[in-house]
Parts: sequence; C-alpha cells; structure tokens
Amino acid sequence: MYPRLVIDLKKLQGNLDACATITKDHGNCSLMIVTKGLCADKEMVKMLCRSEAVDFIADSRVKNIASFAKMARNHGKKTVLLRIPMHSEVADVVKYVDLSFNSELSTIRLLNKEAAKAKKVHDILLMIDLGDLREGIFFQNEDLIFEAVEEILAMENINLYGIGVNLTCYGAIIPKNENLSQLVEIGRKIEDKYGIKLEMISGGNSSSIYLVDKGELPEGINNLRLGESFLLGNDTAYETKLPGTVSDALILQAQIIELKEKPSLPIGEVGVDAFGEKPYYEDRGIMKRAIIGVGKQDTDLGSMTPVDSQIEIMGGSSDHIILDVTHCDREYQVGDVVEFELGYGGMLKVATSPYVDRVYIK
Ligand SMILES: *Cc1c(COP(=O)(O)O)cnc(C)c1O
Repeated sequence: MYPRLVIDLKKLQGNLDACATITKDHGNCSLMIVTKGLCADKEMVKMLCRSEAVDFIADSRVKNIASFAKMARNHGKKTVLLRIPMHSEVADVVKYVDLSFNSELSTIRLLNKEAAKAKKVHDILLMIDLGDLREGIFFQNEDLIFEAVEEILAMENINLYGIGVNLTCYGAIIPKNENLSQLVEIGRKIEDKYGIKLEMISGGNSSSIYLVDKGELPEGINNLRLGESFLLGNDTAYETKLPGTVSDALILQAQIIELKEKPSLPIGEVGVDAFGEKPYYEDRGIMKRAIIGVGKQDTDLGSMTPVDSQIEIMGGSSDHIILDVTHCDREYQVGDVVEFELGYGGMLKVATSPYVDRVYIK
C-alpha cells in the first residue's frame, strides 16, 4: 500500500557507525541516539538495542519511550526523556524513563515524590540555557543554578546525573567552543562548590557534532545527543553531510492517481487556497501534471526532494500533491510510484501520519 516510508536499516546502521566513530572514537563522548524523528520506530529501536555503540536511547515523548523502555533496558541501554516533563506525566516518567531532562524545581519535586512512592532513585539532567532561549536555567543567573542544585542534592529520590544544553532549536544559535566551554565551567563550579562529580555534561544535538572533527569540542563535554545526524546524516550547524553517512536511508514512496496535461494558471477569480493562503502561480503554458496520493496531512512539502531530479513539486493540499513532470525523461503513468528523500520536517510528519505505511530493508 502507498504512501509508504521505506526504512533501509542497513543504511541506518551505516549512519550509526559513522556517528559512533565521530562521537565516541574521536570525541570521547558517550552516544545518545534520539528516536523522535522517526517516532521511535520499533525496527529502528531494535537495531539501536543491538548496537554496542549506543549508550542511551532518547525521545521527547513519554509515550514513545514507554513503547521501547523494556527492550532498551533489557539490552542495557538507559532511556532518556529529552523534553522537560509536564506535571501531569511525572508518574510515567519515573516508570519508563531512566534519565529525564529538567529545568523546573516544582516538577523535580514531583518527580522526587513519585520516585519515593516507586522506591526508586530517578536520575535527572539539569538543563542550562546558553542563549538559544528554549529550555534551561539561564546561564547568566548562576545564583538560580546553584539554588536549584542545592535543593536537588537534598532530595532523597533524585540523583543529579549531570547538566546539559540544547542549541540551534529555537534561537538557531550555533554551538561553539566558547558557549560550550561556559557549560563545562558551570559544571566544574557545581562540582567544586558541592564536592560532587557530575556524570554527564551533555553538549547538545546534531548541531554540535561538527565540533569534534574540528578539534573544537571543549574538554569536559562527554555526551552528544544525535537524532538528525543518525537518521539523515546531517551536521545541522552548517548543513553539511557527515563523513560516512547517507541521506537516503528513509524514502517516501507515493503513487500517481491522476496524470493530465493542463494549464499552469488556474482559471477564474483567485481567492485563498485550502490553507487560507493566497497562492502565486507562474505561467508555464500547458504542463504535464501528476497528482500523488499523499498530502500536507502526511508530509511537509518544503521538506521533501524528488529522487527523480526532473520532477518539480508544484504544491498541494491536505491529501494531494501536484508534481510538474513535463520535463521528465521517464514517461510516468497513473499507478507509477514516485520517490522522495526527506528533510527533518518531512520525516517527522511522515513518521507520525497513520496513513503512511512502513516497509523495511534489512
Ligand atoms: C530533539 C532533541 C535532540 C536531538 O536533536 P537532533 O538535531 O535531531 O540531533 C537532542 N536534544 C534535545 C533536548 C532535543 O529536544
């Protein structure tokens, strides 16, 4: 059935090996693989569980983690919750998550209570915001950081496992030796002030990996969290390809449901499209237009690239995408399958749409 996502597990394994070489061998960091981009796909998680290089398996959603917690733990992998927890989910966090990222004391107090009930000690990573302005205690408010650490250290059922930062997500701030060194410095100050050892200083996501081979990852950073690098082979700081990775481990396939020659300009008074936007059309004369059976409900039109480079994506609506196949060497027919490489946004929507089937290359 189409549309479907083809997941090439051999290629993903190759990407994993490449990420492990950079992160572990060259960077002396532990490797946390992030599964949310592919909605914690079961076969992918199995592959991660089998890999000795993977130390942690992380996701932003407790539901995804619940789906693999047992398998991950059986294989000696720690489960990690990346998004700071909601008050409403702390019981599930304590149950399924081995290490959760946090920035709010009120939430950590609730985790402490839940962990006590479950007779567990729950590990947390305290998030520090170095200027990207998403989650974390703001780095310039050192008093607030120490206050939080002090209270956490007094909690019986919470263990301060380490600190971490997230960059290049909201503020699009690029990790550098300078800003990551500030994180290491904060870590050292915490260790000195309280006479403790932080197990982890986590230096970011797929936008930090480029620092390793430039020799600019500060000493002291001992963990990286990689989603996009693993799934799509990207360094997301400067949008380069990581050595040894491929970008086509995931392919979206969709079927042509209509193929007709029509004008390129709609006829009649122009209002707004299905999404309330005023469209712009270029007059290209009569075109060969193919409609495929997949739409904005399932994917992101700006985040998919036809494998046949002679195809151009014209636009679409909830359930349809219109392709210009006028200049294709291949004579497309109704029923033919068209393939796309995906960007992060496209992958995320494809992986979460219940209308997109999955097949695996093993
Ligand atoms: C999503 C996420 C990651 C992984 O990001 P990639 O760019 O896919 O590597 C890492 N850390 C946090 C906190 C995240 O939310």
